[in-house]
Amino acid sequence: MKAKELTNLKKKLLNERARLLNTATNSRRQDFAIATDDLADEADLTSVERSQGIVFTLREKEQKVLAEIDEALQRMEEGAYGLCEECGDEISTKRLEIFPTARLCITHQEEEEKKRKFYAA
Ligand SMILES: [Zn+2]
Repeated sequence: MKAKELTNLKKKLLNERARLLNTATNSRRQDFAIATDDLADEADLTSVERSQGIVFTLREKEQKVLAEIDEALQRMEEGAYGLCEECGDEISTKRLEIFPTARLCITHQEEEEKKRKFYAA
């Protein structure tokens, strides 16, 4: 993968990450509008506790997406991004542009989905 493509994908991941956290922060603010008594306590929280609280306000699916984004960013750091976890082949850039958090090449993704359907049946 070209460095430029990697940079673009990283930007995409970071944007999506910021959007998710922003959504969480906004929904938290709406909570405060109802429970203003909690505001004083909130000021005493450490930043770590606060960011954990933000993540908790995310819906389960959003939390999962956030974790996948973090994993993808981690793989970028390690230089393992864009490689299939099953066969080590490069995942096509086209596919990564649509699914920046993809961990499997198209062949193995399809196998995985077949397996999932099999177990779900
Ligand atoms: Zn593969």
